[in-house]
Parts: sequence; structure tokens; C-alpha cells
Amino acid sequence: MSKLLNRRDLEFVLYELLDVESLTRRPRFAEHSRETFDAALETAAQIAGDKFAPHNRKSDFDEPRFEGGRVHIIPEVKEALDAFRGAGFIAAAQDFELGGMQLPWTVAQACFSWFNAANVSTAAYPFLTIANANLIRTFGSEAQKRRYLPPLLAGRFFGTMCLSEPQAGSSLSDIRTTALPQPDGSYRIVGSKMWISGGDHDLSENIIHLVLARIGDAPAGVKGISLFIVPKFRVNDDGTLAARNDVALAGLNHKMGFRGTTNCVLNFGEKGDAYAELVGEPNKGLAFMFHMMNEARIGVGLGATVLGYTGYLHALAYARERPQGRLPGSKDPNQPQVNIIEHADVKRMLLAQKAYVEGAFALCLYCARLVDEQQSADGDKQRREAGLLLDILTPIAKAWPSQYCVEANSLAIQVHGGYGYTREYPVEQFYRDNRLNPIHEGTNGIQGLDLLGRKAGMQDGAAIQLLARDIHAVIREALGCDSEELRRCGGALNEALDRMMGVTRNLLCVTARGELDLGLANSSVYLDMVGHTVIAWIWLRQAMVAVKKVGKAQDADRDFYQGKLQACAWFFRWELPKTRHWHELLNTLDRTCLEMQDSWF
Ligand SMILES: Cc1cc2nc3c(=O)[nH]c(=O)nc-3n(C[C@H](O)[C@H](O)[C@H](O)COP(=O)(O)OP(=O)(O)OC[C@H]3O[C@@H](n4cnc5c(N)ncnc54)[C@H](O)[C@@H]3O)c2cc1C
Repeated sequence: MSKLLNRRDLEFVLYELLDVESLTRRPRFAEHSRETFDAALETAAQIAGDKFAPHNRKSDFDEPRFEGGRVHIIPEVKEALDAFRGAGFIAAAQDFELGGMQLPWTVAQACFSWFNAANVSTAAYPFLTIANANLIRTFGSEAQKRRYLPPLLAGRFFGTMCLSEPQAGSSLSDIRTTALPQPDGSYRIVGSKMWISGGDHDLSENIIHLVLARIGDAPAGVKGISLFIVPKFRVNDDGTLAARNDVALAGLNHKMGFRGTTNCVLNFGEKGDAYAELVGEPNKGLAFMFHMMNEARIGVGLGATVLGYTGYLHALAYARERPQGRLPGSKDPNQPQVNIIEHADVKRMLLAQKAYVEGAFALCLYCARLVDEQQSADGDKQRREAGLLLDILTPIAKAWPSQYCVEANSLAIQVHGGYGYTREYPVEQFYRDNRLNPIHEGTNGIQGLDLLGRKAGMQDGAAIQLLARDIHAVIREALGCDSEELRRCGGALNEALDRMMGVTRNLLCVTARGELDLGLANSSVYLDMVGHTVIAWIWLRQAMVAVKKVGKAQDADRDFYQGKLQACAWFFRWELPKTRHWHELLNTLDRTCLEMQDSWF
């Protein structure tokens, strides 16, 4: 069995839970079938296993170095990326006419899961490029699309996202990078960008930076931010490379994890000549970035999930082979030791990992399915509803996996005992790599503010009400089923949903009367509460599929469905009750953190 991902679970989520095959009835995916989806998934699994996984450790030990004026990266990274682009994955979800495979976004994300599980640092280069190309395709001029899209989608150019600055991370309204208009319609950029992933390297012919900057006297705050294309090498009209642009690598950041991805401080315009092209209208830069945010954040959530997933599979394999001790009821030292998977406490740790990673996996792929609904569903109503559901679920899909799947990685180390704490076993690297995910693409703290401060109340609560409607549908189904356990789960979820909706109304009243600091003080707790309720719903959906099939299933398949039912039961008994405590904190408008004073620490 692969230790990267569980193929059976991947198939279960795609085909049994999300019915991805039905997408082939839509005109956009009419040339696809279960066979073409499986072929793409199989190719991804093979390249991930053969080309990405083998150098994961080496990239971590031998991180990129800046010497002699250039960045040095171990050669295996380029070989892996050549295989990735050769198989056409950069354009996996793009139109056929752009050279793409026109795969549903759900299937493309499932393919990408293999690469992230195998080697998240190497996978970061093409994933940034895909996001970059999507922005240019959506908002760029025809000339920009002609010049930049084909080499980006072919993987000859790579892309970056340059938002953060040393003094402006969460608060992008405070960025200082400036764009100066030129007589020929182009701009010159001046400023420093911090933390830029993939900001410099020789892995591609060129690097296309997408840079947020202010034009001269633009309005203050987020309404004055524009988006620019700034290439490392200028590109001639015929597509050939021209002179080196004035973008300088000021230094590499040395990180806890994700070490194989270069992370750069970039200086634009040290010589006053950083050529830039405006994308779309001025002052719309952040809106353009936000337009792509749902997809980017689901990608981060899925990345966090699969790092947790591979950690879980490594812990499971280890627990099945590591003999240690005897069960409490049979302490005779003459008896052979049991493998640690026999100990109830080790099963607890494995069950927690399974519930976190499989719950998060199903949630992220469900969100990817919503992206497909939003883009290709038949009716306007379906598209609009998918968009609203995505809006409310995106902060959860980003933050919940990046909190609980890091916890899964910590438990995977714990299952390995002392060995897990050494660099001989990969679980410590998974933990370090995954620890980035609560920080970037908007910290989890910012996701809590987004969920409660923007999404819960948007359009008079339309998004959260839609979510409640869909959760109710599963509750009704569970309450009417034959399984006593699942009827109990349905009841528990009903109560959790009532708590969630009640506290949302209360908090929105507090913020509506202008008490924003009080209403939003515990937004991280709100994120936890809604996140757990959503994951419980996703688990119940999985269990409803499993319970219908387990009776007729044979051997490994029966075990698989039984495992789903047990993990669902664990989540409902061990995790969902935590929402009661979170509800209490939120409903009483707990002020402990808000009223704490700087000088009391
Ligand atoms: C390895 C790595 C790769 C990255 N890649 C990129 C990239 O490619 N491109 C790019 O543009 N950026 C990138 N980033 C930057 C990343 O997006 C930022 O680090 C992140 O947005 C946080 O900004 P900051 O580091 O300045 O922290 P700060 O914004 O200073 O936050 C510090 C703490 O304060 C909290 N906080 C801040 N403001 C508030 C608030 N209003 N309310 C409540 N809490 C708050 C945060 O949640 C956090 O816990 C990367 C970062 C890392 C570490």
C-alpha cells in the first residue's frame, strides 16, 4: 500500500461521495470518462512516487543556496519538474485550445494531491505557476495572454505571487511598493517584497512575478492597490527573451520546513528600471487576487491535508511493525510482545489522525467540486449557490486542515516514539513542512476574522443559511436510516447546527450595533466551532455512503467501509462535543482575551 495516499479513499471520495463521473455529462467534460480520470490519477501517482518522493529528504537537507550570484538547487528537482510538465499537469484544468487537458478542477486537485504528498517543496513551483497563469488568463489583456500564457502553461516559464512586504503581511493595505507610469504605457516598480516563494532559481527559462503595488497618488488602503506583471527577463513580442529586468534577489530565507522551495527577499528597481505591465484596471489588484483566493486557499487546505495524510500512513505502517509491551490484561514477560497497534492508546492516536485527514480530504475535494459547479453547472441558480457555499467554506477549508492535519503530523511523531523525533524517519519533516500552512495565504487568525467578519453576514446571511440547508438535508437522511449509531450522529449534528446558527445570529447582532472589537474578539473560536460542525457533517455524509455498502462488501472493501463508520463515530464522540464549550465562550461574549492588558503579561 502506498504511504503517500490511500487510493481506495481517493476513489471513494471522488466517485462514491462526490460522484465526479457525473461531470462527464456536461459539455465541458464530455470528452472525459472514468477511464480518462483514472489515467490522469495513475500518471500523477506514478510521477509523484518515481520522481518527487525520492528527493524529498535530500531537498530538505540540502536546501537551495545562493552562491556566485545564482541560486543552486539539487538537480533532482528539475528532473521531477520536467516529468510534471512533460505529462501536461501544469495545464491540467485548462481548455484544450490552450493545450490543456480540460479536466474538472476536482480531478486536477486529486492529481495534485499525489505531488504534494510526495514532495511539497518541489510541487510548490508548478502550483504557483498554475495560480499565476490563472490570474493572467482571467484578468490579463489579449497581448499579455499571448505573450505569457503559452510559456507558463507549457512550464517553460514559472510564476510567483508577490504580495507580502517586510512591514505588510496580514495587512496588505499597508504595502509600499510603488509603480511609476511611463510614456509608453508600461510602469517601473520600486520596492521590496518579502517571503516570495519560487522568487529566484534556474528551474525555468524565465520567472513571471505578479506584483501588488501602488500607482503614484492611488487612494490609501486596499482600494489603491494594483496588480503588475514583472518578468525576470523581458519578453519580446515574438516570445523570445530580451534583457534581464531590474529584479534582484536580496537574500534567501532559511525556513523550518518547505526547504526545497526557494523563499526570497526581492528588490525591484534598485537601478530604477524594473519594467512592469499593469494587469486590468488600476486599483483593482487586490480584488483580482481575491477573485482567485477561494481556489488558492482550497489548494493550501488540500496541501495541509495530504501532508497529514502521508504522516498518518507512515504512522500506521510503523505501528503495525513495531513490537512493544503487552496488553494490560496479559503482562507475562514470556509471552511475545504485541505490535503497538494493539494498544488502545495508539489506536486512539491513529483514529484521530484518520478522522482529521480523511475528514479534511473529503471537505477539500468537496470544495473543489463546488468550483466545478460554479464554473460549469447547468443552471444559474446552481452556479450562484455553489459560489456562495464556496465563499463560506473557503476559510474553513484553508484553516481547519492546516490546524488539525498539523496535529495529525504531531500524533504521527508520537506514534513513532523517540524514533519519530529523529531525522531518520520522515514524520518530523512532514510536521515541519506542514507548520507553514496555518501561516501563509492568510494566517488562520485572519481566516477566523474573514469567516465571522465577512462571510457569515454576507448577503444577509445567505451563504451560511445555504450551508445550514445542506447540513440539514444530511441530518434528515441520517435520522431516517436503519443504523442506530448514525441516527444518534444525526441528532448530535442537529444540536451542533442549532448552536452554530444561534451563536452566529448573536455575534452578528453585536457587530451590527458597532461593537466590532467585542464581536470579533473570539473569531478563532468561532472558526473552530463552525469548522468542527462542518467536518462532522462531512463525516456523516461519508458514513451514510458507507453504511449502505458495508453489508454487501467483501474482505478489504468491508474493512474500508467499517473504518469509515468507526472514524465517523470517533469524530462524533470525541470531537464534536467540543463545540459545546466553544459555543459557551462565544455566547457569553467571553472577554478574557479582549480585556487582557499588555502590561499584565
Ligand atoms: C515559507 C513562506 C512562504 C511564503 N510565500 C509567500 C509568497 O509566495 N508570496 C507572498 O506574497 N507572501 C508569502 N508569504 C508571506 C505570508 O503570506 C505571510 O507571512 C502571512 O501573510 C503573515 O504575514 P506576516 O508574516 O507579516 O505576519 P503578521 O501579519 O505580522 O502576523 C503576525 C501574527 O499576528 C496576527 N495578526 C496580524 N494581524 C492581525 C489582525 N488584524 N487581527 C488578529 N490577528 C492578527 C497573525 O494572525 C499572526 O499570528 C510566505 C510566508 C512564508 C513563511
